Amino acid sequence: MSELEMMVARLRTMGFLKSEQAEKAMLTIDRAIFIPNEYKSLAYSDNAFPIGYGQTISAPTVVSFMLDKLELKPGMKILEVGTGSGYNAALISHILGVRGKLISIEILPQLYDLAKKNLSKVASLLPNNLTMLCMDGSEGYEKEALYDRIVITAAMPSLEFNSPFVKQLKKDGKIVAPVGNSWSQNLILYDNKTRTSQRVLSVMFVPLVGKGGFKPD
Ligand code: SAH
Repeated sequence: MSELEMMVARLRTMGFLKSEQAEKAMLTIDRAIFIPNEYKSLAYSDNAFPIGYGQTISAPTVVSFMLDKLELKPGMKILEVGTGSGYNAALISHILGVRGKLISIEILPQLYDLAKKNLSKVASLLPNNLTMLCMDGSEGYEKEALYDRIVITAAMPSLEFNSPFVKQLKKDGKIVAPVGNSWSQNLILYDNKTRTSQRVLSVMFVPLVGKGGFKPD
């Protein structure tokens, strides 16, 4: 078994990666490609790592937990805010398949470039369904709405029913997003069908910045 296969097997044992598509995506997309050189030897450990500019790539347990909660299906249209290293975007793109569509937004030009570079290394493994944008995604991306799912990988100050994200969601759409400040955050699962939010995990993400995010101090 390769180290990547062992990482995926561990996640399965812990009860993550419930869908076959999510498991396949994690086995196909090598996390090491998205990890900076100084941490490469630890690429398959369950840790978040710095990717520069104060940002991080999330731990595999958190990534797979979010994928499970999103309940992605091939063919869906997804918005991701916070491309970061591009790892989560690659996994989602793989799961969605050729009929799906993923818009991934990154606010920092340096990380947008890093994600582009990382994703070019796995391009041959991915369907052509990913659009990357370098802009403020803190109020979503109305031009491509409505979305089946919205996933935000930076912590939002709040997620209200009148949020632009909720407005950009299909009737039966879902949002998975960390909500809270730098000392207390929960991963929220919002279901538009029932219009209810659930706290599903205690987490720690870097803050969402920009218009609808936290103001830098
Ligand atoms: N999903 C990423 C990890 C994201 S870290 C991965 O798989 O590696 C959070 C990212 O959100 C950072 O890259 C940060 O620059 C970005 N971000 C923060 N505020 C943002 C905003 N308003 N719009 C778009 N991206 C934002």
